[in-house]
Amino acid sequence: MTVFVIRSNVTLPRTKITILGGGPGGYEAALVAAQLGAEVTVVDEDGLGGACVLTDCVPSKTLIESSSTMTSLSRAASLGLELANGANPVVGVDAPALNARIKALAAAQSHDIAEHVAAEGVRIIQARGRLAGPHTIQAGDATVQADVVLIATGASPRALAEGMPDGERILTCRQLYDMTELPEELVVVGSGVTGAEFASAYQALGSQVTLVSSRDRVLPHEDKDAAMVIEDVFRRRGMNVLGRSRAEAVHRKGDGVVVTLSDGRQVAGSHCLLTVGMAPSTKDIGLAEAGVQLDARDFIEVDRVSRTSVPGVYAAGDCTGVLMLASVAAMQGRIAMWHALGEAVHPIRLSHVASTIFTDPEIASVGVSQAAVDRGEVPARVVKLPLATNPRAKMGGIRDGFVKIFARPGTGMVLGGVVVAPRASELILPLSIAIEQSLSVDQIAQTFSVYPSLSGSVTEAARTVMEYGTDAIL
Ligand SMILES: Cc1cc2nc3c(=O)[nH]c(=O)nc-3n(C[C@H](O)[C@H](O)[C@H](O)COP(=O)(O)OP(=O)(O)OC[C@H]3O[C@@H](n4cnc5c(N)ncnc54)[C@H](O)[C@@H]3O)c2cc1C
Repeated sequence: MTVFVIRSNVTLPRTKITILGGGPGGYEAALVAAQLGAEVTVVDEDGLGGACVLTDCVPSKTLIESSSTMTSLSRAASLGLELANGANPVVGVDAPALNARIKALAAAQSHDIAEHVAAEGVRIIQARGRLAGPHTIQAGDATVQADVVLIATGASPRALAEGMPDGERILTCRQLYDMTELPEELVVVGSGVTGAEFASAYQALGSQVTLVSSRDRVLPHEDKDAAMVIEDVFRRRGMNVLGRSRAEAVHRKGDGVVVTLSDGRQVAGSHCLLTVGMAPSTKDIGLAEAGVQLDARDFIEVDRVSRTSVPGVYAAGDCTGVLMLASVAAMQGRIAMWHALGEAVHPIRLSHVASTIFTDPEIASVGVSQAAVDRGEVPARVVKLPLATNPRAKMGGIRDGFVKIFARPGTGMVLGGVVVAPRASELILPLSIAIEQSLSVDQIAQTFSVYPSLSGSVTEAARTVMEYGTDAIL
């Protein structure tokens, strides 16, 4: 039976859309397609919200909420509060309760998404699926035909060739929440975003953490000033940060683990967390047979409106490797649907993506990078204002962090920014809005911020980087 939908006084047959993968790339696309009147099916094997909600982003940020509370409590004495038992903390970690909360919250979020998506009329099939042709998805026993297919199968944590995770002592980031106790001595291999976030969180919760970094510094791909603040905070709080140390192998030894570095040194711990990157989930799902082009690292090749090499087949999210963020996955998915269903669409603009590293303090950034300015690729005036002079930061005992703004010389247009602060993820928004709306530092400087507030440092930084012509001074 053909079902028709009425839009704009024209009766059109409903476009059939099938989406493989129900993470942000998949379910956000499903919502847009349903809103536009398509007949939508989502095939997912683990649960809506995907790895983002069930194992990655949501669980890690829930863990970090608890670890941030520990950090706040550790400042109590400096704020004039007396902890019972003196130096012995009254707050300990109940690992089973902590992890149970994390898993329950993730499951509830996945359930809420599934209900929302189903309420929009989307059919959800819980099964492993594969492409059986450009217009056919095999989902368990069901064969689903589609005019348009979206692949949004995500990615999975990589392991070391000699260091396969066992879920007990050698762990990926998806296996942390089954632990029944807090790791006594955690060795984190990898100092990118995921490694830094977990190292920060477990250290705050009370683990002795060693961070093994193959590069000169932690967070090698991030703003250097921000990374230096974080590394300094890590070391000051007692973390053992091993720079220029490449992990070759991880083995179980007795009740613990031993990590062997490429120069022969060994690092012992009770547990090892591997954060050495993500591999796209693009194997054995019929992509090559359908003619979908993959790159050398097995990510699906897409253009800026999420088209693959096969007409009618789109891809979004981590399986494309474009930028492994939930917000980017969701936007790629939405763009795919707007494009496929004939709506006006802007190709994705990665230079406008705001992102945060949820260490303590957080690092949030948007727009051009310091590295691009230093290489002379982007002419920019730069101001970096330390947070330590902000009155609200003083009140909270916060001394680490800064606000940095990049502005175009002459016009003062905001080109980018970096905020290192508690809740920097919330403080970056004015700079994101400025970039998206082509605002100048003068316009931010003339905006009221609350006194006292951390956001006062954003307006103050904008005032500092403003250029006054001679006319204004005379
Ligand atoms: C520890 C960690 C923390 C992170 N924190 C953040 C953060 O704070 N902010 C942020 O923006 N990003 C964060 N990310 C990145 C974010 O989680 C990903 O970018 C996001 O999940 C990508 O969404 P996706 O839709 O591409 O895939 P996923 O969320 O991975 O979902 C893919 C879905 O497809 C399903 N699937 C795969 N293959 C098949 C198949 N053959 N058949 C059926 N179903 C299939 C999977 O079961 C899964 O449900 C984090 C990542 C990690 C690892």
